[in-house]
Amino acid sequence: MPDKLHHRAWFESVAKPGERYALDEIRYTDETGGLLQVVHDIDELAKTPAEEWKRTFERRSHRNEWPYGSGVWGKKEWVLPELDNDNVVSMYEGHSNLFWAERYGREIGIEDLWIKLCGNSHTGSFKDLGMTVLVSQVKQMISQGNDIPAVACASTGDTSAALAAYAAAADIPAVVFLPRGKISLAQLIQPVANGAIVFALDTDFDGCMEIVKQISEKDGVYLANSMNSLRVEGQKTVGIEIVQQLDWEVPEWFIIPGGNLGNVSALAKGLDMMLALGLIVKKPRICVGQAEAANPLYLSYQKDFEVFEPIAARKTVASAIQIGNPISHDKAIDALRRYDGVVEQASESEIMEACAAADRTGLFNCPHTGVALVALGKLRGRGLIRDSDRVVVISTAHGLKFTDFKLDYHQMNIDPIVPENPNPPIEMSAGYEDVRGRMLREIDLRFRR
Ligand SMILES: *Cc1c(COP(=O)(O)O)cnc(C)c1O
Repeated sequence: MPDKLHHRAWFESVAKPGERYALDEIRYTDETGGLLQVVHDIDELAKTPAEEWKRTFERRSHRNEWPYGSGVWGKKEWVLPELDNDNVVSMYEGHSNLFWAERYGREIGIEDLWIKLCGNSHTGSFKDLGMTVLVSQVKQMISQGNDIPAVACASTGDTSAALAAYAAAADIPAVVFLPRGKISLAQLIQPVANGAIVFALDTDFDGCMEIVKQISEKDGVYLANSMNSLRVEGQKTVGIEIVQQLDWEVPEWFIIPGGNLGNVSALAKGLDMMLALGLIVKKPRICVGQAEAANPLYLSYQKDFEVFEPIAARKTVASAIQIGNPISHDKAIDALRRYDGVVEQASESEIMEACAAADRTGLFNCPHTGVALVALGKLRGRGLIRDSDRVVVISTAHGLKFTDFKLDYHQMNIDPIVPENPNPPIEMSAGYEDVRGRMLREIDLRFRR
């Protein structure tokens, strides 16, 4: 069906909409250094009725017809319509499960609570959704004879894992710049194993970002950070996919953790497209959660977004959002203005307790998801979320990538914080009677109501 139409997309300056560039041009910013965005020919897309788009997206889901079985490429006309299917680099990302958090929701008084488990993905985070798009476009440019020696990114861990995997699959050299000692071991081993050129630099994320910007400007290495708006095109499918999973019913709230703020911009962009093309009519609200240690958007929100000032981010267990100078702050503020947005913050102990409490109900949360769960609790406390509201929390990474802080929590190793609900393993000698006695005591203590 849609193949007969002439869907088009291009880069456009966010600040100056007339300034346009082709998607196969190597360009990350407009003439004055402002961000670009990918803009689609909405009139052309609107020639297909909303109901037909829904049927097309549903028909393609979980099927194997290349590349439409991917959650991202099943929406290809809305993502990169002119990309040659042979150049798609996909691991059939997307279609992560939407978990009905029945028990956790009941415990906090929100019955209709859903957690989108984006970490159930090839490299364990939502970054796969954007990276498939970026690396596919690079493959297309290389096939057209462009001289691109490598793709590169600065990362707090998950971007580098995704870039390394997709680049390895496409046989394109990848270079990653990580802040030394500031990412988890599980995250570090991913680009190492995938054969990327891995730099661990004596700086923070913002320092790595400065290096990769210079390298891409001066040495022609292709920049894979979310400053590159191709990433946003893939990530924007998350909101569309969630609404599809809810049988096209729009929830009252989305709650999402924010660092560099590309993901919240992407979420809103997907919702914008569904509204523009008539797939939905209701607007949800969006809340961004930030770690108190890296909260420039929260501080800006306190001043009604009239000013935005970068900060020096401090150490947080939510290491993937330890970012003080987020590149997409303007896009994020626009997004929050369009979706009646709110920003909340979470302290270190709040993050750990929220993760531990939710883990006890069968989840296994990364600390960033913990930040979103703290925000959820605060919105509930302030009465902004009502009993009957349907809420979707976007869980950004798999908990298995972030086990250190859970180990420290349960082994009570996080001085000065005293964990409220630690569950250390019981270490004892292996005698039947003693073990049995202890087990029965524990069952009684924990589960008898
Ligand atoms: C990258 C990342 C974020 C933050 O996304 P931004 O687009 O940078 O705001 C949150 N959680 C995890 C696990 C991430 O990897």
